[in-house]
Amino acid sequence: MPAWLADIRPFAHLLLHLAVTGLVAAMAYRQSWLRAWSVMVATMLVDLDHLLADPVYDPGRCGIGFHPLHSYPAIAGYAALMLVPRVRLLALGLLIHMALDALDCVWLRLEGG
Ligand SMILES: [Zn+2]
Repeated sequence: MPAWLADIRPFAHLLLHLAVTGLVAAMAYRQSWLRAWSVMVATMLVDLDHLLADPVYDPGRCGIGFHPLHSYPAIAGYAALMLVPRVRLLALGLLIHMALDALDCVWLRLEGG
């Protein structure tokens, strides 16, 4: 993998969080896309669990299965929340977040990390 791809990974990851949730909001919540997008972007607060880790930020670490709110039981909980209409959008945002974090882990592995 070219070095520049590794260099842009953190930026691309952040951009994907904004772009994918924006795309889903625009497609699935046409009438209230801004509200839907805001809720899904707010699910990035789930990254506050990184504050429990040492170091807090490690660009070479896969967060899935490491941080408490990124654990497999937590992800299963987010999937279960999809069944509850009142919090479905929040759950969708969390699942998209976890999918993008998992994609970041794949990218990291391709870098040899
Ligand atoms: Zn995350």
